[in-house]
Amino acid sequence: MDSPVHRASSVQRRDDGVVGQEPGRDGHAGARRHMMEVDLAGRDIADPQVLAALERVPRHLFVDDTHAGQAYDDRALPIGRGQTISQPYIVAFTAQALSVAPGDRVLEVGTGSGYAAAVLAELGATVITAERDPSLASTARSRLDALGYSRIEVIQADGSCGCPDRAPFDAISVAAAAPSVPEPLVAQLQVGGRLVVPVGGRRSDQHLVRVVRTGEGTEVENLLPVAFVPLVGRAGWPDSQTGSRWSPRRRNEPQ
Ligand code: SAH
Repeated sequence: MDSPVHRASSVQRRDDGVVGQEPGRDGHAGARRHMMEVDLAGRDIADPQVLAALERVPRHLFVDDTHAGQAYDDRALPIGRGQTISQPYIVAFTAQALSVAPGDRVLEVGTGSGYAAAVLAELGATVITAERDPSLASTARSRLDALGYSRIEVIQADGSCGCPDRAPFDAISVAAAAPSVPEPLVAQLQVGGRLVVPVGGRRSDQHLVRVVRTGEGTEVENLLPVAFVPLVGRAGWPDSQTGSRWSPRRRNEPQ
Protein backbone atom coordinates (compact mmCIF):
# COMPACT_ATOMS: atom_id res chain seq x y z
CA MET A 1 0.00 0.00 0.00
CA ASP A 2 1.09 3.51 -0.80
CA SER A 3 2.24 5.44 2.28
CA PRO A 4 1.14 9.04 2.88
CA VAL A 5 4.81 10.07 2.57
CA HIS A 6 5.09 8.46 -0.84
CA ARG A 7 1.75 9.76 -2.05
CA ALA A 8 2.56 13.26 -0.82
CA SER A 9 5.72 13.47 -2.90
CA SER A 10 4.12 15.65 -5.60
CA VAL A 11 3.06 18.22 -3.01
CA GLN A 12 5.42 21.13 -2.61
CA ARG A 13 6.49 22.01 0.93
CA ARG A 14 7.15 25.52 2.11
CA ASP A 15 9.22 26.47 5.13
CA ASP A 16 6.35 28.29 6.88
CA GLY A 17 4.60 25.17 8.07
CA VAL A 18 2.02 24.91 5.32
CA VAL A 19 2.07 22.65 2.35
CA GLY A 20 1.49 25.09 -0.48
CA GLN A 21 -0.08 22.78 -3.00
CA GLU A 22 0.45 24.26 -6.43
CA PRO A 23 -3.05 24.29 -7.91
CA GLY A 24 -3.19 22.46 -11.19
CA ARG A 25 -0.15 20.27 -10.62
CA ASP A 26 -1.76 16.90 -9.88
CA GLY A 27 -4.22 14.53 -11.49
CA HIS A 28 -7.06 15.84 -9.33
CA ALA A 29 -6.80 19.45 -10.48
CA GLY A 30 -9.96 19.34 -12.63
CA ALA A 31 -12.08 17.83 -9.87
CA ARG A 32 -10.68 20.28 -7.33
CA ARG A 33 -11.44 23.26 -9.62
CA HIS A 34 -15.01 21.99 -10.07
CA MET A 35 -15.37 21.76 -6.29
CA MET A 36 -14.05 25.33 -5.91
CA GLU A 37 -16.24 26.87 -8.59
CA VAL A 38 -19.49 24.95 -8.14
CA ASP A 39 -19.67 23.67 -4.56
CA LEU A 40 -17.89 26.51 -2.73
CA ALA A 41 -17.71 29.83 -4.65
CA GLY A 42 -20.93 28.83 -6.46
CA ARG A 43 -22.69 28.77 -3.10
CA ASP A 44 -21.99 31.20 -0.27
CA ILE A 45 -18.27 30.72 0.31
CA ALA A 46 -17.03 34.20 -0.58
CA ASP A 47 -13.92 34.62 1.61
CA PRO A 48 -10.96 34.52 -0.82
CA GLN A 49 -8.59 33.26 1.91
CA VAL A 50 -10.89 30.33 2.69
CA LEU A 51 -11.24 29.48 -1.00
CA ALA A 52 -7.46 29.63 -1.45
CA ALA A 53 -6.94 27.40 1.60
CA LEU A 54 -9.28 24.71 0.29
CA GLU A 55 -7.65 24.90 -3.12
CA ARG A 56 -4.25 24.19 -1.55
CA VAL A 57 -5.19 21.15 0.56
CA PRO A 58 -4.91 17.85 -1.35
CA ARG A 59 -8.10 16.18 -0.01
CA HIS A 60 -7.34 13.02 -2.02
CA LEU A 61 -4.43 12.38 0.37
CA PHE A 62 -6.78 12.42 3.40
CA VAL A 63 -8.86 9.43 2.24
CA ASP A 64 -7.81 5.90 1.32
CA ASP A 65 -7.02 4.97 -2.27
CA THR A 66 -10.48 3.49 -2.90
CA HIS A 67 -12.09 6.88 -2.19
CA ALA A 68 -9.47 9.12 -3.83
CA GLY A 69 -11.57 9.39 -7.02
CA GLN A 70 -14.45 10.89 -4.99
CA ALA A 71 -12.23 13.14 -2.87
CA TYR A 72 -13.45 16.36 -4.49
CA ASP A 73 -17.13 15.45 -4.52
CA ASP A 74 -19.03 17.62 -2.05
CA ARG A 75 -19.75 14.84 0.39
CA ALA A 76 -18.47 13.22 3.55
CA LEU A 77 -16.48 10.00 2.96
CA PRO A 78 -15.64 7.11 5.31
CA ILE A 79 -12.23 7.21 7.02
CA GLY A 80 -12.61 4.03 9.10
CA ARG A 81 -13.53 3.54 12.79
CA GLY A 82 -17.13 4.49 11.88
CA GLN A 83 -16.10 8.12 11.23
CA THR A 84 -16.07 10.41 8.19
CA ILE A 85 -14.05 13.21 6.64
CA SER A 86 -16.33 16.25 6.54
CA GLN A 87 -17.90 17.54 3.34
CA PRO A 88 -15.74 20.31 1.74
CA TYR A 89 -18.61 22.83 1.82
CA ILE A 90 -19.04 22.35 5.59
CA VAL A 91 -15.28 22.66 6.19
CA ALA A 92 -15.24 25.89 4.14
CA PHE A 93 -18.42 27.23 5.77
CA THR A 94 -17.02 26.56 9.24
CA ALA A 95 -13.65 28.16 8.42
CA GLN A 96 -15.46 31.21 7.03
CA ALA A 97 -17.71 31.46 10.11
CA LEU A 98 -14.63 31.27 12.38
CA SER A 99 -12.95 34.28 10.63
CA VAL A 100 -9.50 32.74 11.12
CA ALA A 101 -6.64 35.21 10.67
CA PRO A 102 -2.91 34.45 10.28
CA GLY A 103 -1.34 33.87 13.68
CA ASP A 104 -4.59 32.84 15.37
CA ARG A 105 -4.46 30.02 17.91
CA VAL A 106 -7.14 27.55 16.93
CA LEU A 107 -8.45 24.44 18.68
CA GLU A 108 -10.20 21.78 16.63
CA VAL A 109 -12.16 19.02 18.38
CA GLY A 110 -12.46 15.90 16.20
CA THR A 111 -9.34 15.57 14.03
CA GLY A 112 -10.69 12.64 12.01
CA SER A 113 -8.55 12.54 8.86
CA GLY A 114 -6.81 15.85 9.65
CA TYR A 115 -8.31 17.56 6.58
CA ALA A 116 -10.10 20.43 8.35
CA ALA A 117 -7.01 21.00 10.53
CA ALA A 118 -4.95 21.36 7.33
CA VAL A 119 -7.42 23.93 5.98
CA LEU A 120 -7.16 25.92 9.24
CA ALA A 121 -3.34 25.77 9.06
CA GLU A 122 -3.43 26.99 5.44
CA LEU A 123 -5.28 30.06 6.79
CA GLY A 124 -2.15 30.80 8.83
CA ALA A 125 -3.38 29.51 12.19
CA THR A 126 -1.48 27.48 14.75
CA VAL A 127 -3.75 24.49 15.28
CA ILE A 128 -4.18 22.12 18.20
CA THR A 129 -6.51 19.33 17.20
CA ALA A 130 -7.90 16.67 19.56
CA GLU A 131 -9.09 13.22 18.49
CA ARG A 132 -10.46 10.68 20.97
CA ASP A 133 -9.82 7.63 18.76
CA PRO A 134 -6.15 6.56 19.15
CA SER A 135 -5.94 4.96 15.71
CA LEU A 136 -7.40 7.98 13.87
CA ALA A 137 -5.20 10.34 15.91
CA SER A 138 -2.08 8.40 15.02
CA THR A 139 -2.93 8.16 11.30
CA ALA A 140 -3.78 11.87 11.11
CA ARG A 141 -0.56 12.81 12.92
CA SER A 142 1.60 10.79 10.48
CA ARG A 143 -0.29 12.14 7.48
CA LEU A 144 -0.01 15.79 8.56
CA ASP A 145 3.69 15.34 9.40
CA ALA A 146 4.34 13.72 6.02
CA LEU A 147 2.59 16.64 4.31
CA GLY A 148 4.74 19.15 6.21
CA TYR A 149 2.05 20.70 8.41
CA SER A 150 4.40 21.66 11.24
CA ARG A 151 1.94 24.15 12.77
CA ILE A 152 -0.58 21.42 13.62
CA GLU A 153 -0.36 19.43 16.84
CA VAL A 154 -2.54 16.33 17.11
CA ILE A 155 -3.52 15.35 20.66
CA GLN A 156 -5.20 12.04 21.44
CA ALA A 157 -7.82 13.01 24.01
CA ASP A 158 -11.46 13.73 24.74
CA GLY A 159 -11.61 17.30 23.44
CA SER A 160 -15.22 17.96 24.46
CA CYS A 161 -13.98 20.01 27.43
CA GLY A 162 -11.31 21.64 25.28
CA CYS A 163 -7.68 21.90 26.20
CA PRO A 164 -7.57 24.13 29.31
CA ASP A 165 -3.79 24.10 29.68
CA ARG A 166 -3.41 25.51 26.13
CA ALA A 167 -6.24 28.07 26.32
CA PRO A 168 -7.23 30.76 25.46
CA PHE A 169 -8.01 30.31 21.76
CA ASP A 170 -8.99 32.79 19.06
CA ALA A 171 -11.21 30.18 17.47
CA ILE A 172 -12.56 26.71 18.30
CA SER A 173 -14.04 24.37 15.71
CA VAL A 174 -15.96 21.28 16.79
CA ALA A 175 -16.38 18.59 14.12
CA ALA A 176 -18.84 16.37 16.01
CA ALA A 177 -22.32 17.13 17.32
CA ALA A 178 -22.84 18.02 20.99
CA PRO A 179 -26.13 17.84 22.95
CA SER A 180 -25.68 21.52 23.88
CA VAL A 181 -22.94 24.15 23.54
CA PRO A 182 -20.07 22.80 25.67
CA GLU A 183 -19.54 25.53 28.27
CA PRO A 184 -15.87 24.63 28.92
CA LEU A 185 -15.17 25.49 25.26
CA VAL A 186 -16.83 28.91 25.59
CA ALA A 187 -14.69 29.54 28.68
CA GLN A 188 -11.53 28.82 26.64
CA LEU A 189 -12.23 31.58 24.06
CA GLN A 190 -10.39 34.90 24.12
CA VAL A 191 -12.67 37.92 24.28
CA GLY A 192 -13.61 38.27 20.61
CA GLY A 193 -13.02 34.55 20.08
CA ARG A 194 -15.36 32.41 17.96
CA LEU A 195 -16.66 28.88 18.58
CA VAL A 196 -18.47 26.94 15.84
CA VAL A 197 -20.14 23.73 17.01
CA PRO A 198 -22.91 21.46 15.74
CA VAL A 199 -25.59 21.13 18.42
CA GLY A 200 -28.69 18.93 18.57
CA GLY A 201 -29.60 15.24 18.64
CA ARG A 202 -27.08 12.44 18.66
CA ARG A 203 -27.78 11.62 15.01
CA SER A 204 -30.38 14.17 13.79
CA ASP A 205 -31.91 17.64 14.21
CA GLN A 206 -28.54 19.33 14.42
CA HIS A 207 -27.65 22.97 13.75
CA LEU A 208 -24.27 24.59 13.33
CA VAL A 209 -24.09 27.24 16.04
CA ARG A 210 -21.61 30.12 16.36
CA VAL A 211 -20.80 31.54 19.78
CA VAL A 212 -18.77 34.75 19.97
CA ARG A 213 -17.32 35.70 23.33
CA THR A 214 -17.78 39.41 23.96
CA GLY A 215 -16.61 41.61 26.83
CA GLU A 216 -20.04 41.26 28.41
CA GLY A 217 -20.93 37.64 27.70
CA THR A 218 -21.67 35.75 24.49
CA GLU A 219 -23.53 36.18 21.21
CA VAL A 220 -25.08 32.96 19.91
CA GLU A 221 -26.24 32.45 16.33
CA ASN A 222 -27.84 29.51 14.54
CA LEU A 223 -26.10 29.17 11.17
CA LEU A 224 -27.15 26.05 9.27
CA PRO A 225 -28.89 22.65 9.60
CA VAL A 226 -26.20 19.94 9.52
CA ALA A 227 -25.53 16.20 10.04
CA PHE A 228 -22.45 15.30 12.09
CA VAL A 229 -21.26 12.21 13.95
CA PRO A 230 -21.76 12.53 17.74
CA LEU A 231 -19.28 14.25 20.05
CA VAL A 232 -18.54 11.50 22.57
CA GLY A 233 -17.11 12.59 25.89
CA ARG A 234 -17.53 14.49 29.12
CA ALA A 235 -19.29 17.49 27.57
CA GLY A 236 -20.80 15.38 24.79
CA TRP A 237 -22.75 12.12 24.47
CA PRO A 238 -22.07 8.88 26.36
CA ASP A 239 -20.00 6.27 24.55
CA SER A 240 -22.51 3.85 22.96
CA GLN A 241 -19.90 1.04 23.19
CA THR A 242 -19.41 1.26 26.93
CA GLY A 243 -22.69 3.01 27.75
CA SER A 244 -20.78 5.07 30.27
CA ARG A 245 -22.38 8.38 31.12
CA TRP A 246 -20.09 11.23 31.87
CA SER A 247 -22.19 14.28 32.44
CA PRO A 248 -24.75 14.59 35.26
CA ARG A 249 -27.02 16.89 33.24
CA ARG A 250 -27.70 16.79 29.54
CA ARG A 251 -30.16 18.69 27.40
CA ASN A 252 -31.70 17.40 24.17
CA GLU A 253 -31.28 13.76 25.07
CA PRO A 254 -34.03 11.42 23.89
CA GLN A 255 -36.09 10.18 26.86
N1 SAH B 1 -12.59 17.23 10.93
C1 SAH B 1 -12.52 15.85 10.47
C2 SAH B 1 -13.85 15.15 10.51
C3 SAH B 1 -14.05 14.60 11.83
S1 SAH B 1 -15.40 13.48 12.08
C4 SAH B 1 -11.92 15.75 9.09
O1 SAH B 1 -11.72 16.80 8.45
O2 SAH B 1 -11.63 14.64 8.67
C5 SAH B 1 -15.50 13.72 13.83
C6 SAH B 1 -14.37 13.16 14.62
O3 SAH B 1 -14.59 13.55 15.96
C7 SAH B 1 -14.27 11.65 14.63
O4 SAH B 1 -13.00 11.27 14.20
C8 SAH B 1 -14.49 11.27 16.10
O5 SAH B 1 -13.71 10.17 16.54
C9 SAH B 1 -14.07 12.55 16.79
N2 SAH B 1 -14.61 12.76 18.13
C10 SAH B 1 -15.85 12.49 18.61
N3 SAH B 1 -15.94 12.87 19.90
C11 SAH B 1 -14.73 13.42 20.25
C12 SAH B 1 -14.21 14.00 21.45
N4 SAH B 1 -14.92 14.11 22.57
N5 SAH B 1 -12.92 14.45 21.43
C13 SAH B 1 -12.16 14.35 20.33
N6 SAH B 1 -12.61 13.79 19.17
C14 SAH B 1 -13.88 13.35 19.13
